[in-house]
Amino acid sequence: MTSVKSSNIGYPRIGENREWKKTLEAFWSSSISEESFSIEMKKLRLSYLKNQQEKGIDFIPVGDFSYYDHVLDTAVMFGLVPNRFNHAGGKVSLSTYFSMARGSAAAHACEMTKWFDTNYHFIVPEIEDKKPELVQNKPLEAFLEAKKELNIHGKPVILGPFSFLKLAKGYDKSHFEEILQTFIPVYVQLLQELKDAGVSIVQIDEPVLVTDLSDDEMDVFSRVYNEICQHVPSLEIILQTYFEAVTHYKELISLPVKGIGLDFVRGREENLASIKKHGFPSDKLLAAGILDGRNIWKTRMEDSVSLLHELTEYVSVDQLVLQPSCSLLHVPITAENETAIHPEVKAALAFCHEKLDELTLLTKAMNHPGEDSSFLLQTQDEAINKLKASNLRERKEMNELPSKRNKVFADRFPLQHEKWKLPVLPTTTIGSFPQTKEIRKIRADWRKGELPHSTYETLIREEIKKWIEIQENIGLDVLVHGEFERNDMVEFFGEKLEGFAFSKNGWVQSYGSRCVKPPIIYGNVSFSEPMTVKETLYAQSLTGKPVKGMLTGPVTILNWSFVRNDLPEKEVAFQIAEALLNEVKSLEHAGIEMIQVDEPALREGLPLKQDKHQHYLNWAVEAFRLSTSDVADTTQIHTHMCYSDFEDIIQAISDLDADVISIETSRSHGELISSFEETTYDKGIGLGVYDIHSPRVPDEEEMSSIIERALAVLPSRLFWINPDCGLKTRNEKEVVEALTNMTSAAKKIRSSI
Ligand code: GLN
Ligand code: ZN
Repeated sequence: MTSVKSSNIGYPRIGENREWKKTLEAFWSSSISEESFSIEMKKLRLSYLKNQQEKGIDFIPVGDFSYYDHVLDTAVMFGLVPNRFNHAGGKVSLSTYFSMARGSAAAHACEMTKWFDTNYHFIVPEIEDKKPELVQNKPLEAFLEAKKELNIHGKPVILGPFSFLKLAKGYDKSHFEEILQTFIPVYVQLLQELKDAGVSIVQIDEPVLVTDLSDDEMDVFSRVYNEICQHVPSLEIILQTYFEAVTHYKELISLPVKGIGLDFVRGREENLASIKKHGFPSDKLLAAGILDGRNIWKTRMEDSVSLLHELTEYVSVDQLVLQPSCSLLHVPITAENETAIHPEVKAALAFCHEKLDELTLLTKAMNHPGEDSSFLLQTQDEAINKLKASNLRERKEMNELPSKRNKVFADRFPLQHEKWKLPVLPTTTIGSFPQTKEIRKIRADWRKGELPHSTYETLIREEIKKWIEIQENIGLDVLVHGEFERNDMVEFFGEKLEGFAFSKNGWVQSYGSRCVKPPIIYGNVSFSEPMTVKETLYAQSLTGKPVKGMLTGPVTILNWSFVRNDLPEKEVAFQIAEALLNEVKSLEHAGIEMIQVDEPALREGLPLKQDKHQHYLNWAVEAFRLSTSDVADTTQIHTHMCYSDFEDIIQAISDLDADVISIETSRSHGELISSFEETTYDKGIGLGVYDIHSPRVPDEEEMSSIIERALAVLPSRLFWINPDCGLKTRNEKEVVEALTNMTSAAKKIRSSI
């Protein structure tokens, strides 16, 4: 190698116009045959490779394409199909593959969980009693196809054994090393087959290397890689990490692999410090992730060039491979057609294709330094500088806001008790009621301008009225308006606040065929006018029961958006908090004095490394408090979160100082209650008494027993009864039946206390 090379880590699967999603869904609904499915998918796969070829990328990833998820692909490639799917052995069929992902009549789906701290979800492998065997060499197939069809000498991408097993479940963790051993021959075989087919360079992803691995774990890691490399000595392996700095840099660089991939966006300071401290071996490649693979802004070339200059003090130019910081799976495909976005913002956007252009530009500039390339780099930075200087980003002074309620909870509680006069074990819901096809159509037609505004408002009101009546008939104590006017809990607020832009086609894969289109926070966020008062007040006008206002919290709005990268996240969160406080006050002023501020994404923003948790939690909690503290003592603030694994953030949850929290628990009740007990959570709490993700309607007895178990450890005066999340995905019949059972369970227990 004589020069800097460019490389990509992974390419988005979904297609410029979500063709991938549409093909998958057509296949699932049997509108296309398996054969046309494969043909369509192959077309897409090849077009993705071709795009990268045309951009001039040196190392084009192959095998990163998937029909659903790359972790599932890895499990299936090793024949690791859970017993409940009755797989007979050998290559796994497409139908078993999709049953694992989505469930079938006979067996429930595999669990799905978040991929590190991203919003992408992977399918959790289950090991059970199985030994891995190579039943299909997917990267090899991908390599051969790219070679044959496009004459691309691809770089196969594989998830490494250590991360794979760490992410898996269904085995005794105390036998981790022993089980990991069984993967070695399988990986060796896989790599040997690649080698035999003429592969020269392979990317093995080991993202677990950026988490808090212990020294012992790192020893295990080293032993495994020493052994694998010994068996395929001449294959060039790049050990790829992303999302953070690596924890055991020194051990990592002493492994007999050809290269190390490091993230210089999220882990810039620490990775750089490690290189400065320990150097970098002169016989290895440094695959430097210098473009942000998780955000949508152009890279400031000036910064990248200075980073590269720093790096070249430790590695020679021909050791350098330039690449995005992680797979581009996490960004949309192209910003080219985003004509509706303000031109100054649009000019500063870089989705996947624009990032690949940046990559080749930087690579060329490194290989042919001189006036021409400096000029090109400077031109590239103009858009960022322009946006920075534009009045879209003019800083306004933040107001001094209280982040503490006037009184502590214990002193607010009697005042609120007196004001609200609720029965013990009050019943309520989390906010949304069924988002039917009709409702979605009403919203869509209105957006397209096909439905006059007044008709739209009337129809939404009719729905609110209908559901207020339903709630009254069921006998719930605290009602909600139902969120019928909301498409999405972040987009709805983003569209009404200043500082947000919305792309036409900026989709990214969330899980399976499900894609999300995160809002873009480009400027200063501020409040312009009340966003929820009208609907809430209308609902309140129809009933004597309290109607709870419903907002999305600052941390969730932040975590589910693409955020400007010229300010610390904390500052953006505080801006959102200030804007939301305006809404809280507008509601309060209008007489809505019970307000829920949802924070379902609080936990997912938690940094990967423990030592960064506290900093994040401090500002996240502060942001929530800024948005909810400046209210009357009698105003009751609720919050809601949708997860059950919160042991590590329970203090933070308590520090939010919400008067009532509702939390998803129906799937793991026992553990949850005890963790609340241990930490003496002393504010109002609603442990979801039934799982809204399932169409099954639990009967009164089932809910009673859950409530009684909770009451054995939690004081009844603080306890609320509610489902574990919003009901937007359920139908009317299920909702009415379930809530009826829930309220009668509550009433019965109430009378016995
Ligand atoms: N209020 C929202 C709803 O009921 C909360 C959704 C969520 O927690 N993700 O739909
Ligand atoms: Zn929820």
